[in-house]
Order: sequence, then structure tokens, then C-alpha cells
Amino acid sequence: MSKQTLSFQAEVAQLLHLVTHSLYSNPDIFLRELVSNASDACDKLRFEALNNAALFEDAPNLEVRVAFDREARTVTITDNGIGMSAQEAIDHLGTIAKSGTKDFMSRLSGDQKQDAQLIGQFGVGFYSGFIVADKIIVESRRAGLPAAEGVRWTSGGTGDFEVETIERPARGTSVILHLRDDASDYLDRWKLKSIIGKYSDHISLPILMQKEEWDAEKSEQVLKDEWEAVNSANALWARSKKEVSDEQYAEFYRNLSYDSQAPLAWSHNRVEGSTEYTQLLYIPAKAPHDLWNRDRKAGIKLYVRRVFIMDEAEALMPSYLRWVKGVVDSADLPLNVSRELLQESRDVKAIREGNTRRVLAMLEDLAKKDGVPAATEGADGVTDVVSEEEKAAAARDAGKYTAFYAEFGAVLKEGLGEDFANRDKIARLLRFASTQADGLTALADYKARMKEGQQAIYYITADNRAAARNSPQLEVFRKKGIEVLLMTDRVDEWALSFLTEFDGTPLQSVAKGAVDLGSLQDEEEKKAAEAAAETFKPVLERLKESLKDKAKDVRVTSRLVDSPACLVVEDGDYSTQLARMLKQAGQ
Ligand code: ADP
Ligand code: MG
Repeated sequence: MSKQTLSFQAEVAQLLHLVTHSLYSNPDIFLRELVSNASDACDKLRFEALNNAALFEDAPNLEVRVAFDREARTVTITDNGIGMSAQEAIDHLGTIAKSGTKDFMSRLSGDQKQDAQLIGQFGVGFYSGFIVADKIIVESRRAGLPAAEGVRWTSGGTGDFEVETIERPARGTSVILHLRDDASDYLDRWKLKSIIGKYSDHISLPILMQKEEWDAEKSEQVLKDEWEAVNSANALWARSKKEVSDEQYAEFYRNLSYDSQAPLAWSHNRVEGSTEYTQLLYIPAKAPHDLWNRDRKAGIKLYVRRVFIMDEAEALMPSYLRWVKGVVDSADLPLNVSRELLQESRDVKAIREGNTRRVLAMLEDLAKKDGVPAATEGADGVTDVVSEEEKAAAARDAGKYTAFYAEFGAVLKEGLGEDFANRDKIARLLRFASTQADGLTALADYKARMKEGQQAIYYITADNRAAARNSPQLEVFRKKGIEVLLMTDRVDEWALSFLTEFDGTPLQSVAKGAVDLGSLQDEEEKKAAEAAAETFKPVLERLKESLKDKAKDVRVTSRLVDSPACLVVEDGDYSTQLARMLKQAGQ
């Protein structure tokens, strides 16, 4: 084909204008997009070669090279991936509507789809080159075509582009950017390398750059003909679990979180189905100092097909799990997705729900393993055989939930008010101090210890455990040996207002209303109380009269044993504890 000049499709011309003028405020991302295209091209080759190994020719090692030339003022991104024929260059670089990716996707059969790590739907990345370049030359040869069928595509990024046939022995594509005057920054090894480190470190192919060396004669850095990988070529989460050691998971966590302590637990999964993504989620050992800042962004990094998109993707985790660290790599989202778009995306909603389920399941698992089962004794009295491995695993996880709960238990309670769908699961993870057990008690443990005839789970809220334990409101419970949970976290009162029952049993504050102990209260006591109410009627009237601005009602109670009087609030009213908190907060 001799040189031809073609016009961009109208939409492309518009898009180009948009891209260069306003879409990207951050010019660095041109490199992310072009490296991402290079990586995609290698994925495509790898995929096509599944059925035709000859496509690898004599270069089976797929790689991306990033080079620059100070004199020519060019930055060049080269890959040895699938390449483009002349017609493909015209179609894919001149038309948005017909993105090569879409075409490729439609050719996939279900099964192969899983092997290939494929590409999104938005065809705008390539044009981001025009943010920094006033001329782009693409030279390419498609895998499988002869060297004589290479193509050169050239454009100044305005109305049209040129295409011509060239001789190109090397398979794959070079994108040569002729930099604008104001983009000289990119003629710098350190600059390019740091952008690659920031955005493309986890591209699973090596990204190579030439080494540099000081030339004393010229007294400047000169490029050597020696290439080295500048990324870790290591998308840890894209590997299978079996290939990743515990140390590698822990190291990755350190890079991700800047936390010097090892994580308590992690979970790494490839989720398939209508929304496909990989999640690698970590539970930290220590709470960050700003845990209570509800504006704190989530600790999740979002990647799309191994290309970094954003930090702190709050849409991927509910607020009460904002302390979870990790990576989500989506196969479905477009590369140019914004925070605003994330909020509305159905895929993102599915990912958030999947992440939530996963974290709650991890916690449940830790909670289960919290005590060390030395050897479990079966019902028949025969000791079950526990493998060494199981014992080691149990010993490793023993005490972790307690440690976790001390750090994050209170923030987990926010979930009762925030995540109705998972309220039961969250309730099962909660632990409280109790009048009848050392350490912390789960609601299920409380239920298992309930007295016969007891119809509610009783709790008291207070500033601290001593105040809770000494409350006169507990007297009758103590006398009857009924367990009461002691709630002393600031969030308890608020959180518990969302949890009216657990596993079919209502939760009841001992400081509210007339506590009805039901069948636990014997007939005689009831009669005695009624008689007392009669006897003390005149006294009650007088107390009511003199306290009329301060108390709604004064009544005889059976809840006290030693103390003469106590304050209670009506069912449905704020408790004294919450009333005090609101007052402190100036409400
Ligand atoms: P997307 O990557 O989302 O499809 P781009 O604008 O980044 O959109 O790229 C448009 C198309 O150009 C790609 O789909 C692909 O067909 C083609 N392309 C771009 N870069 C390369 C490359 N390095 N090798 C092969 N094809 C490429
Ligand atoms: Mg792209």
C-alpha cells in the first residue's frame, strides 16, 4: 500500500479534542495507557497462540520496552505482542466504534475467555498520547504476517492520519511519540521509570528500559545498550494462591499498607460469574490512628486488568470495613473509570457486596479458631484425630480474633446501622463483657447460658465496666443469677438500637421501662410488689409531685434488692447514657 491519507471518523476527531484538552488533567497517564495497550497486545498474542503456537515466531518472551531519545525528542513504547495489520491500524486507531478489543471479545468462546485476561470496552487510551505528543507514529507488524506487510500510521492528532506499508521484521508494535515543547519532562529516565513504578508496576510482563551510565567526556548520562526490567512484573494477585508464599503475601501487604506489622489474615480469590474480579483483602493487626474518622477513605486499591486505576476506592468497601486493606482487580470496568462512575456502577456494587461477604467470612473463621483446641473430644469420648497441620493452623490463629476485636470491634458495630443485609452476621461477630463470664462473650454464648424461662438477652450500657457492674439496676438480675451484658463502648447504645433481637431472642436494656422477667419472676414476688405499690401510694404521690419537673413517673419496683431507688428511662426513650452523650456533643 502506498501512502494514503484518511480522515478520522467524526467521533474520533471529537474525542481527540476532548482528550488533549480536558479529559486528562494528569498527563502522566499517557504512559499507563500505552503500556496497558502493549500489555493487552501481549495478552492477545498469548491467547491466539493457544491455538497456533507458530505466532510466537522466534520471540516467545513477551515484553514491553520504553525508550527515549533526547535529540529526536521522542518517547517510544514497543511491544512484541499481536501487532496490527494495515487494515487493523486503520480500523482500531481511526475509529472508536469498532474497537479491536470488542471485536476480539466477540470472537471468544466461553471457555477460552477464562484463560485470556482481556480487555475493556472503552477505546480511548491510545489517544491520550496526544496529551504529550504533537505527532504519533505507530509502526507495527501483525503476528503471522510477513515482514513486508508492516504498517506505519502517522498522525498529528487533528483531522486525519496517514497509513503506508513498510518493511518491519519485528513482530508487534512501536508507538513513537514526538513530544510537544512543554512535555520535555518525559525525556528523562527517572521520570519515566517512576511513572511506570506508580501505575504499571504490577503489569505481569517485564517493562524494560535501557540502563544509563555517566559519560565523563561528554559529562552527561548516556544510555547503554543494556536493558533492565523497571517493574516487578509481578501482579501478585493475578497469580494462583498456590504460587504465592505467606512471606510474599505479607511483603505485598507491607508495600500496600506501609504497616510495619504483619497482617492478621488475608483472603485471595478470583471471583467469576456475571462480574469478574480478583480480590486480595487483608485484615491489619493494628487499627490506624484515624480509624474513627468516618471520612477516612477505604484501604482498597482498584486495578482494571492489572492496570492501576485508583487508591482508596471507597465504593468498593462499606464504611464500617474502611480499615481493610487490599486490591481489587476488575475484568469488567473501563480503564478510564472515575470515582463518580464507580458510585453508579452495578459491577462495583457486586464487588462491594462480594468484598463485604469475604471480610465477614474471614472474621467468622478467625472467631471460630480463637481458642486453641488441643484435641477435640468426640461425643463418644474418643479423642478425634487432629492432623499436625490442623493443630498448627489452629495454634497459629488462636487468640487472633480477640486481638482483632480489641482493635476493631467498636468500628465493626457501626455495621449494625449501616449494613442491614449482613446484620445477623455482624451480630454473631460481636463480643461483650458480661456479669457472668471472664473475657468477652458472644451473643450465642449468652443464649446458650440463658436460664430456663428467660425470654430476653439483657444488657446495660455505661461509661465503663465498673459503673456497669455497680449499677443498682442489676440487683434483681444478680439475685436471680441472670446474666447481663455490660456495654461500655461509646457506639454501643447507638449500634444496639439497630439490633432488637438476636437469633429470635429480643435484646432488652435493663435500664429501660419496667423490666419484665416473665416466668422468672415468681407469683409471690409479683404479689408483694403489687401490695407495696398499694401501701406506698401516698408516698409515691408526694414524690411525683415534688419531682414533677424532673421525673415522668415514680413507681415501686421489684428490680432493686439493696438500693432504695434508681433511675430508669421509658422504653423507646434515649437511655441516660445516650442522653449524656448527646448532651456532651451539644445536642
Ligand atoms: P482499548 O485499549 O480500550 O481498546 P485504546 O484506544 O487504548 O482502546 O486502543 C485502541 C485499539 O488500538 C486497541 O483496542 C487495539 O486494537 C489497538 N492497539 C492499540 N495499541 C496497540 C498495540 N500496542 N498493539 C496492538 N494493537 C494496539
Ligand atoms: Mg487501551
